Amino acid sequence: MLTVKKLPKIETTLEIKESFKQLVVDAGLTMIHQGLTVGTWGNCSARDPETGLIYITPSGMDYEVIQTEDIVVLTDRLEIVDGFRVPSVEREMHVAAYNSRPDVNAVIHTHSLYSTVLGVNRMELPGISEDFVQIVGDKAVCSEYVLPGTPELAANAVKGLGVERNAVLLPNHGALCVGTDMKHALTVVTVTEKAAHIYIMAKSIGTPQLISMEHIREMQDFARNRYGQR
Ligand SMILES: [Zn+2]
Repeated sequence: MLTVKKLPKIETTLEIKESFKQLVVDAGLTMIHQGLTVGTWGNCSARDPETGLIYITPSGMDYEVIQTEDIVVLTDRLEIVDGFRVPSVEREMHVAAYNSRPDVNAVIHTHSLYSTVLGVNRMELPGISEDFVQIVGDKAVCSEYVLPGTPELAANAVKGLGVERNAVLLPNHGALCVGTDMKHALTVVTVTEKAAHIYIMAKSIGTPQLISMEHIREMQDFARNRYGQR
C-alpha cells in the first residue's frame, strides 16, 4: 500500500501564475482525450522558467473535473507554496526531472498503451523514425522496475532520460516524457507512443532496420539549427 506523505507548506513572495495552472489543466485534458492514459492515472506539470516554481496535477482526480484551483504549486525541494490539494504521487519524479535538466520546463507521465507494451517486455524503443530521433532522442531506454510513487522510480527515470533524451519507458507502468515547454512535451508524448506502435508492428512482420547514429546526429542538428521558418 502506497502512503501519501504530507508536504510542508511554505510562504513565498514569488508570483503564482494562473496561466501556468491553465496550461497543466489543458495538458491533462489533452492526455485523456488522446487516450494516452485512462481514469485518473498519469500526471503532468509545468515549470515557470522565471520563478522556478512547478505547477502539477493533484493526486487521483478526474482530468475532466480538475480546475485551475486544484493545481498544486511546488518548489524544487517539494515544498507546497500554493494549492490545497494533495499533489500527484509522482511529484518526486517530476521535480527530479526538472532538477536534473535545466532545459526541461514541462513533464508528462502517461500510462500509454504501446509504450507500456515495450516496458512489459523490458525492451527499449530504438530511434526508428525521423520525427522520433529529432524530437525524442536516439532512443528511449527502459528503466529498471520499481514501485510507483517512490524515490527510486524518480532516480531511475532521471537516469533513463540522461542529459538529452526526452522520453524514458517505465516498465509495467508507462512512460515519462519531457519538453522545453508544454507544447513540446505533448509532441514528445505523441511521437513516442506512435514510434512504439510502429516498432511493435514492424517487429511483428519482419526485422526493423534502425537509423545509424551518424544519421541520427545529422537529423538532430538539422532539427535544432536549420528546420522551420528562420
Ligand atoms: Zn503512473
